[in-house]
Order: sequence, then structure tokens, then C-alpha cells
Amino acid sequence: MTRQPGMMAPPGRLRIDLDAVAANWRKLNALTPSAGVVKANAYGLGMDRVAPALQRAGCRTFFVAGLDEGAALRALLPDAEIAVLSGPVEGFQALYREYRLLPVLNHMGDLAAWPGEDAVLHIDTGMTRLGLDPSDAAALDRQRFRLVMSHLACADEPEHPLNEAQRRLFAELAARFDAPASLANSSGIFLGAGYRFDLARPGMALYGLNPTPDGPNPMRPVVRLEARVLQVREVDRPLTVGYGATAETRAGRVLATVAAGYADGYLRAASPGAEASLHGRRVPLIGRVSMDSIVLDVTGLPPGTVKPGDWAVLIGEGVDADELAAAAGTIGYEILTSLGARYARTYTGGGEPGA
Ligand SMILES: *Cc1c(COP(=O)(O)O)cnc(C)c1O
Repeated sequence: MTRQPGMMAPPGRLRIDLDAVAANWRKLNALTPSAGVVKANAYGLGMDRVAPALQRAGCRTFFVAGLDEGAALRALLPDAEIAVLSGPVEGFQALYREYRLLPVLNHMGDLAAWPGEDAVLHIDTGMTRLGLDPSDAAALDRQRFRLVMSHLACADEPEHPLNEAQRRLFAELAARFDAPASLANSSGIFLGAGYRFDLARPGMALYGLNPTPDGPNPMRPVVRLEARVLQVREVDRPLTVGYGATAETRAGRVLATVAAGYADGYLRAASPGAEASLHGRRVPLIGRVSMDSIVLDVTGLPPGTVKPGDWAVLIGEGVDADELAAAAGTIGYEILTSLGARYARTYTGGGEPGA
């Protein structure tokens, strides 16, 4: 058997369009002044490339989840304002100062642990996750903060009554403080001007996910994920496909095995239901997702079109991360943050290369 040179390359490739990230931020920032949420390695896309691209687009304030992410971001962006959502972890206050990180104060213990003004006050208005109880916030004596924030629980469901309840409660409490106010995540920006306040905190929309799930996606796609076709099989008799023999196929069908599986973050729950794109055509998955591979039914393509070494598009060419997520019964956020380590990652655009 002759060696196929193309197969010496990584089995999958992930391309991240930094120009699209920058354009998405500018689009949101034109609606309302916006920060950039780059927690969890910029939703799996690579904070070291995404954050400098956002800064070059004009973003000045960034949110990360924890101290370590904040310290890593400080090394990339010496001048940015960086807020840490998980609060000032007791005993680590000196590190917050060393890296000039703004802790988000989430409960009264955080206020005691961080008496200074260089902090973000987080008031819980209905998410019940992090943030001061409204009665505690109301009892604070007009203390000053860099920012006062809250977080919406149902921003992706415009009709949900909790949105308006949170907005009203936040408006009332935020007015007590002499600080800019921040409520909206990506979807919150699209709930209307009343939700925008002084600073929005978009994450997912920067990365191309749809902040308005009931309508067309206003954001530019950012991620393109491709994986190699490993084998093509013309079926000549009734067969079952994959683990558990859950899918049946028959003579005349053409199947392509592709090198991405649940170990690469291609979620096992995506089959049945998910589709990919191959030579510009939509093709369905057949059978279960394996650790390192999936099988596509490519019968719909002209005979002989699909060959080992071809690239199947798993995200991109109209197959977006939100759609793949829906097939897997999850959300686009989980698709992005699960993207695996075996893909060859390339970045396009984004202005000058970052640090
Ligand atoms: C993750 C997060 C965001 C960003 O949310 P998106 O839905 O990705 O826009 C904003 N604020 C807080 C507190 C968060 O935890």
C-alpha cells in the first residue's frame, strides 16, 4: 500500500478567525460599550491570541474566571483592566495586587477580605450563583466601586419574565452606587437598550455563537473545524455501523470514516442528528461517535468524490457550533470549550501577531 503523504498531517485542523472576533466585538461595542469575556481560555479558542486581538480592536476591559487566568492575561496585556469573576480568594490578595487584577466581590466575606475600592461589586438579582444578596447590597453605605454588576439568568429567552425582574432590581440597586453599571452578557445586549447600562460583558457572541437563538445569527463565524477522511466504504450488503450496532445501512450506501471523536470534543451525544459538510454538501453522521472517529453517510455526493485524505468540515460552511450543540442536546458554549488538543490550530487575521 502506498503511503498517503496527506495522512502524515494532524487528523484535524481548527482555524480561528481573529478578524471575525474583532469584528464581532466592534459590532457589539457599537451597540453599547463592551468588555470582553475571555474566561476558560477564551471559550477554548486561545486567550493568548484572542485577547490581544480584542485589545487591538479597542477592547479595554476583560473578564476572566480565576486568579490564574488573570495573571496569564496580565502577562499578555500590561495595560488592560482585568476583572476576576470568582472573587478575591482569601490568602491571595497580594497576588491580585501584584497582577493589578480587579476582584469581583461576590459576598460579604469578599468585601471584608478586600476593603479597597479597586473592585467590582456583584449583586445577585436572580441567578442565585454568585453575588451579594440584594438586601446586603441595599444596606451597603454608598461605597464606591470600579463597577457594579449583575448577571442575567435567562437572557437567551427574551420572553422570560425573570429578565425584566432582574433588570428592574439591578437598576434600582445600581443607582445607589457611584459607579458604572454592567448587566448584559451577549444575549442581554439584544434584549434592548434598557439592559445595556454602562458596560456589557459579551463572551459567546465574540466567538461567533448566536446571542439571539430565536433568530438569525447576527455575528460572524469564528471557528472552522475540519477532520480527515480516513476510509471510504461502498456498502454491498446490509450492515450495521459503529458501537452498539445502533445504525443500519445497506447496499449502495457510501460511508466515510473521519478522524475526530469524543476525545477531540466532538460530543458523543451529537449522533444521531449531527451533520457535517463535505465537498460543499451536507452529510449526516451515521452510528455512534467513537473516541477518535465518526462515520458520515456520503451517499448523496457524486460517486468517487470522497477520498481518504479529504477534509470534512465539522464546524463551518453553514454547520455552526450552535447547530452541532443542538444535535448533542447542549449549547454552543460547551462545543467550543470542549474543542480538543489534537487539532492543529491556526489563527487568521487579528492585526499584528500578539505577544
Ligand atoms: C460568562 C459570563 C459572561 C459572558 O456570557 P456570554 O453569554 O458568553 O456572553 C458575562 N458575565 C458573567 C458573570 C459570566 O459568567
